[in-house]
Amino acid sequence: MVKLIKINDRIWYSMYEEERDRPCLGYVRGDHWSLAVDAGHSDAHVKEFYEALRKESLPLPTLTVITHWHWDHAFGMHKICGLSVANTITNRHLKEFSDEIQVEGVNKFLSLDPSIQKEYADGRKVVIVPADIEYTGKMDLDLGGISVRLFQSISPHTDDTTLVYLPEKRFLFVGDSISGVFPTWKRDPKKTKELMRTLEKTDADTCLGGHWPVMTKRELLTALAEDGL
Ligand SMILES: [Zn+2]
Repeated sequence: MVKLIKINDRIWYSMYEEERDRPCLGYVRGDHWSLAVDAGHSDAHVKEFYEALRKESLPLPTLTVITHWHWDHAFGMHKICGLSVANTITNRHLKEFSDEIQVEGVNKFLSLDPSIQKEYADGRKVVIVPADIEYTGKMDLDLGGISVRLFQSISPHTDDTTLVYLPEKRFLFVGDSISGVFPTWKRDPKKTKELMRTLEKTDADTCLGGHWPVMTKRELLTALAEDGL
């Protein structure tokens, strides 16, 4: 069962799960509409997240932003309500991976990691769709009473990172950008430095990544500097 954690009057998230490699999913409530950060690993993950939102009487998201193309963040996208948004590179990766699976079947994907086999147990279908809306560079959203900036950043994890910043709350969703490459988790030092510079430049106090607890920006930068994540 997905449990929602409230950060303040605008921000909630669901805790990550290691077993099925499910990342934290973010939720931002505006006065007019609401935003989810990442779709989740599969339709089952989306369903459980939405049940948790309903339980808290929170409206289902109008828009879901995808932080990067990886399966655990994006492959639930076909089951979200409302629309989705991602940067152009994320959509390109999703289309390429979808084409690959059409040709080669799903076995290569399922064998990438045991956590994927657990998420897709019982013959659950792998469905990959691109986001409805594509942006390049940055995109500003006004949810009513809270604004959100989506922007691309260099990262040692993938080449398609979207960071999600909430200036009024000084809160930054960082996805997996702080991590190294799958599956070795090695971080390219130059890209890590660039990401650290980007994080420094934001006025964020608090950050939430895909597979880590909430951290202050200071803690996050220290961990990155010491290669301690
Ligand atoms: Zn990832």
